[in-house]
Amino acid sequence: MRRSSPLAAFVATGLTLIVPLPAVPAHASTGSGAYVPGSAGLGDPYFPQAGNGGYDVGHYTIRLRFTPKTRHLGATTTITATATENLSRFDLDFSGPKIGKVEVNGERASYARKGQELVVTPRHGLPSGKTFTVEVSYAGRPKAIKDRALGVTGWIDTKDGAVVLAEPDGARSWFPVNDNPRDKATYTFEISAPEGLTVLANGEPKNSGVAGPRGGYRTSTWEMRRPMASYLAMVAIGKFKVTQGVVDGMPNITAYDPSLAKEFKHLHGITAKAITWESKILGDYPFSSTGGVADRLGVYYALETQGRPVYDAGMADEPTIVHELAHQWFGDSVGLRSWKDIWLNEGFASYAEWLYQEQHGGPSAENTFAEHYKHKAGSAFWKLKTGDPGRNGMFDWNAIYVRGAMTVHALRRKIGDETFFTLLRTWTKENRHSTVTTQDLIALAERLSGQNLGDLFDAWLYKAAKPKL
Ligand SMILES: [Zn+2]
Repeated sequence: MRRSSPLAAFVATGLTLIVPLPAVPAHASTGSGAYVPGSAGLGDPYFPQAGNGGYDVGHYTIRLRFTPKTRHLGATTTITATATENLSRFDLDFSGPKIGKVEVNGERASYARKGQELVVTPRHGLPSGKTFTVEVSYAGRPKAIKDRALGVTGWIDTKDGAVVLAEPDGARSWFPVNDNPRDKATYTFEISAPEGLTVLANGEPKNSGVAGPRGGYRTSTWEMRRPMASYLAMVAIGKFKVTQGVVDGMPNITAYDPSLAKEFKHLHGITAKAITWESKILGDYPFSSTGGVADRLGVYYALETQGRPVYDAGMADEPTIVHELAHQWFGDSVGLRSWKDIWLNEGFASYAEWLYQEQHGGPSAENTFAEHYKHKAGSAFWKLKTGDPGRNGMFDWNAIYVRGAMTVHALRRKIGDETFFTLLRTWTKENRHSTVTTQDLIALAERLSGQNLGDLFDAWLYKAAKPKL
């Protein structure tokens, strides 16, 4: 993510409790081991309720029809998951519109909504190690999630459609989900919108991209075939000027709202240029297509939605495009196990901007670093811990973006250019489509450099103070 300006304060939305359908009793299945409820959260220190215990999602199929005129969404999400314990019931995260029905393995299941939790009780227990399917149908008007500290995420209405941007926990606004970055899955999107509108999503359009219109609606199918964290799932519906090209042998699909033509007409070209440069510096591009989508969203940020970042109006500058595309390696392919390590995403994506400038006639990264290092000890610039900024500080410009990039540069100074650039490519290769922690990075840097780097990372990440050089 990259923010362009301080965020306005927003009033947090209240939690809803919807009365469940008449409950169908769950029967304990035969077999060894007791059947127990999956946990309601995965214990992330910043988002303890996000994600759920007891299963691992393999694939989401999200079928939806959206009518911009009425803002009505009708949807069915089908989840294929594998139980990791004997489950008597399990939770999904869901804050979307009214549910019509829930089925597990084709049988009606009972459910209850408690805050952001959708508690599903299947007719039969789900044995550990077995794959099961959950189908949830819902309809109504989806709402964005407004957080005082983190801004607007989730389903965002636009003048002529809608766009989804869901970092860190907005995915639940539009589909039932195991909403934790450590449970990556593949996705199919089947999106119907009135004829004349364009639909984009992550990945590639299936077949020719669009099926024939049905009753005035046209259905577009998109597939993300590489593992993806739920906050990176994206659809964009509306009027778009689409450009299709090829970069490094793969599709480059970009689109902008026609009213943003002046600002974003270079989006396609810069995307191609940035991807080619980043593939040299960061290693092979991790997905099978690239691109970008620009629309008037009123959120004042851009987001690295997987394979195809989204840019709000005002976010068309080259460093921002370089930043969001660098996230394809740092954050999207190499994902987070815990949100407190958000600097691993933002520090490296911001440092990619510094490197891009250094190699394209701009200031050296050393100069950029030196400028920021001028902030006086004891000033507000140093007041949060980069390696654990707190939930409300996770997108703090100074602590996460600037000092995150400074941490990367301090590492480069310490281990030298040759080891540093080897580290970038080794990190993205060894952790491709996986999730990591800061400790994993320290371990790799120590392995490649042969140095003890504990003190350096401790000073840069875990002290709210200006580190000594
Ligand atoms: Zn970012």
